[in-house]
Amino acid sequence: MNQEIDIQLPHNITLTVKREDLLHPHISGNKFRKLKYNILQAKAEGKTALLTFGGAYSNHIAAAAAAGKEYGFKTIGVIRGEELVNKIGDNPTLSFAKGCGMTFNFVSREAYRQKTDPVFIEALKAKYGDVYILSEGGTNALAIQGCEEILTPEDDVFTHVCVAVGTGGTISGIINSANPHQQVLGFPVLKGAGLSADILKFAQIGNWQLVEGYHFGGYGKVTPELIIFMNDFFEKAGILLDPVYTAKLFFGVIDRVNKGLFPQGARILLIHTGGLQGIAGMNNELIRKKLPVIKT
Ligand SMILES: *Cc1c(COP(=O)(O)O)cnc(C)c1O
Repeated sequence: MNQEIDIQLPHNITLTVKREDLLHPHISGNKFRKLKYNILQAKAEGKTALLTFGGAYSNHIAAAAAAGKEYGFKTIGVIRGEELVNKIGDNPTLSFAKGCGMTFNFVSREAYRQKTDPVFIEALKAKYGDVYILSEGGTNALAIQGCEEILTPEDDVFTHVCVAVGTGGTISGIINSANPHQQVLGFPVLKGAGLSADILKFAQIGNWQLVEGYHFGGYGKVTPELIIFMNDFFEKAGILLDPVYTAKLFFGVIDRVNKGLFPQGARILLIHTGGLQGIAGMNNELIRKKLPVIKT
């Protein structure tokens, strides 16, 4: 569903939001797209359990747990941070995943870094049996195939398609399905290089670009300015954003519109990739740090 935003913008520019956050109540946004063909593949392979990886507030962990419950798979989450083992009840994401039936394997940050190492994977298979393994963030070729379904032919009217970038899976699907006249802009939410190379593994050559400068300190980091922007946007447009991905995207796009970095009359489509389950965990942190909280 596309929703045009009624806020005053210069240069005759319009903003429209693709509400992927409304796709499913618990398997949110792009994580639904990324899981869809993987779930079908796991079924085709006769697998009964899904194993995947993530951090304490991971949207992917929440989505994989909910998808397992809905589609009849056991789920195992390899979670970064051993200290979380006694804190599941304090963590909204992990509590939710546990409620969906997910089994956790908490590992140290050092061990977590080996998450793609074949030896580590073999050890997990020895422990949990013949599981279907999804990488961190769920990005693989089948995930890209799912993300190619985000844009539809009706979206050809837009001149620009803007999306938040984590691992680069979602933008790859969008690049592959965009019309050649459209420019795809990715807003990385983390510091550091290597994303373009990851995107090029899955995406065709196309009219796309990464826009740096809107990570707000790095992955999962926020500033009071970002929170104030989110609350203001929610009040004006009635659309709730998540602090890790979509808030940074929307801030970046609106900032660049105001700076005159989009052409006159641009029709911009922003992808709301979901992730709203992360707000509760972020607000706990913000309260602890006595910072402004996200209004919902
Ligand atoms: C995971 C996620 C992204 C990033 O998707 P990638 O495919 O990893 O780039 C963007 N938005 C939300 C809300 C997410 O949960």
